[in-house]
Amino acid sequence: MSYQMFFELSLGLKKNLHAPRGTLKGITSHVAEVEAALGFKTERCKPNPARWNLRVKDGVSDETLCEIAEMHNNWVRGLYADFAKWYKNPVADGEVITPAQAQKFWRGMARIIVPPQRWTGDYYQCRMEELYAVMREHSTADTAFGAPPLTVRQAREVIILFSEFLDREDIRLDVPVGYDHLRPGDDYCWCSKCGAIAEEDVAGRLRRCRKRGGCDLRENYGDDYKD
Ligand SMILES: [Zn+2]
Repeated sequence: MSYQMFFELSLGLKKNLHAPRGTLKGITSHVAEVEAALGFKTERCKPNPARWNLRVKDGVSDETLCEIAEMHNNWVRGLYADFAKWYKNPVADGEVITPAQAQKFWRGMARIIVPPQRWTGDYYQCRMEELYAVMREHSTADTAFGAPPLTVRQAREVIILFSEFLDREDIRLDVPVGYDHLRPGDDYCWCSKCGAIAEEDVAGRLRRCRKRGGCDLRENYGDDYKD
C-alpha cells in the first residue's frame, strides 16, 4: 500500500467501498474482541472521530498484550491494503460499506503501541526484524528509511547498540556471518574472532578457521563436531 493511500484513509472512508460479503461483520467482531481483551475505552472529543484510549486494563499479561498487539497490527495493515485493493477493483456481488458505517469501527483501525517495558522476547525479535528490514530497505513495511540503505554490518551494529535497552529477555539477536537477517542466540554460535556463526555453518567454519590464538568455536563446540 502506498503512503498516499494510508494518508487518504487515515480518518475514514471517503466513499462507498465494495467489499466481499461478511467484511463489515468481521471487522466489527475483531474490534469488539480487542476491546474486550485489553479493556480499551472509546473517547470522543467532538468534532474529532471517536478513538481508542490505549490504556490496557489491569490483569493483562505482557504475553497476552504483545500477542494481541501483533495480531491486531498485522490485521490493520492487511485491512488498509484490502481497502486500497477494493477501491481499485470493487468486489462485484459483495457488500457495500458506507463512510457512515466505517465511522462506527474506525477507532479500531489504530495500531496498538506496546511500551518496551512490556515487550516479550518474541515481540522484541519481530520489532527488530522489521527495523532491520527498514534499514536494509528490503521491506514492504509501512515505515520508510529516510536515508540510503545501511550495509548488513551497519544495520547489525544499530540493532546491537539498542539491544542494551530493549533486549529484556536477553535473546541476543545478531546477523550470522554470510547472512542478511537477524537470528536469536539459540541459532548461532559465537566466536570472538569470527563473530556469530550460524549453527549449520559451524562444522565448516571449524575446518577452515585459522584465526590466531585458535577459534573459540573449536574450544567451545569442537567436541560436538568431531569427524
Ligand atoms: Zn573463529
